[in-house]
Formats: sequence, C-alpha cells, structure tokens
Amino acid sequence: MPDAVEKAWSDVVDTARRTVADGLVVGTSGNVSARVGELVVVTPTAVPYDRLRPRDLVAVDLEGRQVRGELRPTSELPLHLAVYGGTAARAIVHTHAPHATAVSTLVDELPPVHYVTAALGGPVRVAPYALYGTPELAASALAALADRTACILANHGTLAYGSSLDAAYDSTAQLEWMSRVWLLATASGSPRLLTPADLAAASARFTTYGQPRS
Ligand SMILES: [Zn+2]
Repeated sequence: MPDAVEKAWSDVVDTARRTVADGLVVGTSGNVSARVGELVVVTPTAVPYDRLRPRDLVAVDLEGRQVRGELRPTSELPLHLAVYGGTAARAIVHTHAPHATAVSTLVDELPPVHYVTAALGGPVRVAPYALYGTPELAASALAALADRTACILANHGTLAYGSSLDAAYDSTAQLEWMSRVWLLATASGSPRLLTPADLAAASARFTTYGQPRS
C-alpha cells in the first residue's frame, strides 16, 4: 500500500505530465507540488516528467530540507515554500503557459474580460519580474497572490494554487484560457471589460454553483 506521500507523488507526476500534454510547459520547465501534512512533495529539477518513476519521489519539509529522495528538488522550491507559508495552498502548479506569459509582457493585471476572473479571486495580477529560483521572485509572487488563487510571473509564466492538484491545475488552465481570450480581443480592438459589480455577482453565484450535496 502506498503511503500518503507516495500517493501525492503519483498525483504530482500525473499533473506535471498533464501540463506538458496540454501545451502549458515545454521540456523541463514548470513545476508542481502538493502538501502532505508538514511535508511538500515536489517535482525534481531538470528531469523530463515522462521519465519520473515512483522511486524518484522528492519530499522536503516546510523549511526546504530534503527528507525523502535523492534527486534535487525544483529550482523554484523557494517559490513553492513561500506560497505554502503564506496561503492555505495544498497544491501548486507553475507553468510557462504561452498566452499568460505573453500577457505579462503587456500589462500589470489581466483585464477582466470574463466572469471566470471572479473564480480566481479577482483580476489576476502580474508579479514584477525577478530572477527565477530567487527569494525575490517568491516574495513578488506572494504579494501578487493577495486575495487571489493565481498570478502571472512577469516575463516568466503562471502560478496557481488550490485545495488540491486538480483545483490548482484548473485555475492554471482557466488563467491561460482567459489570457488567450484577452489577447484575441485586443488584437481586434479595445475589449469591453466586466465591472467590479459584475465580478462580485459572479463570485456570489460561484458559492452556490455545482452539484447539490446529497
Ligand atoms: Zn518557471
């Protein structure tokens, strides 16, 4: 029977492979993690996701000390640890999704072209640029995540967190899709945007959206 950490590793690898299959990442860029109690299970640095096996599991504690595995964790470990330390995140997905990255070179915030903006906590901010793998990037991202579950790292990529890997992945996919919509709209003209009242109404409706509980 796999333990909780081994199960999380399997889910982290599945999610990481999904980011490649869905075109959100090329090569060994991007990284994925999940929190299990006081541990963080995280993808290793510089290993293609299709080569990861069960024995390649990497886990660190909340200070970043390696507690399981031989491979070195992702170079963005400071980013992941900062988000776990500063939010209620249980899982984090970081990608180099092309449309969101393109948006980050144009604006400081993704304009609210769609009501899904409300599902991410409001208009998604662009965190000012800092070198990858640095505490400066981690601080920049954490500030941009205030009251949001996703941000865009300037000239770099996306960061989203959630209560599960599926939630973090879904926010990433929604952010990338909205970025694409905004780029399509701005290529043709000046998009009409939603108002704060529109977003508040969508947010209120999200709280009752979904299947009824039996
Ligand atoms: Zn990156």
